[in-house]
Amino acid sequence: MKTKSGNFVLPGDPLGVTEEFVPADWTYEDDGKIRSLVAGTVQVDNKNKKISIIPKTNSPSLLKIGVMVFGQISEVRGQRALMKIEGAKGSTRSLTTSFSGGIHISQADRGYVSKLTDEFRIGDLVEARVTKIIGLDNVDLTTVENELGVIKAMCTNCRDFMKKVSKSEVICPNCGRKERRKLSSNYEG
Ligand SMILES: [Zn+2]
Repeated sequence: MKTKSGNFVLPGDPLGVTEEFVPADWTYEDDGKIRSLVAGTVQVDNKNKKISIIPKTNSPSLLKIGVMVFGQISEVRGQRALMKIEGAKGSTRSLTTSFSGGIHISQADRGYVSKLTDEFRIGDLVEARVTKIIGLDNVDLTTVENELGVIKAMCTNCRDFMKKVSKSEVICPNCGRKERRKLSSNYEG
């Protein structure tokens, strides 16, 4: 992999392999690969073999109603999906604490949604808008608008990122599995 310091990356972009590097700030490990959790600038520390990201985000404590955020789905159950918020869109300051967002089934998509698992799955990268501040580290979110929703879907079978095939369907390039999602009009891939 040819990631260099100063490169701009998006959530999910591959940065290196764990045989060569240790995942540091704002990265995660995914089956031997190091990927970026956030949109931001790559920092490669060749001496200590670490890769980290300087996020292009705002402090979550500054989250306000109406702000667009991005993050990764951590749980989907019954009427509510939970998302670990990685940052606010269009801001430059890095996160200081971890924020969690809840998406109620009524706020996931236009019209009636029978199953929340047709909208989101664990590991999906999502963009959403804040509708309510619940606490210091907790907000309610909506993904109803066209440009909101899943921007990268993770296959429930093999955890590879999936390709868009229609407005609400994605396919896994690795195992061929098809799944439904509430896709953002900005879906990447
Ligand atoms: Zn798959």
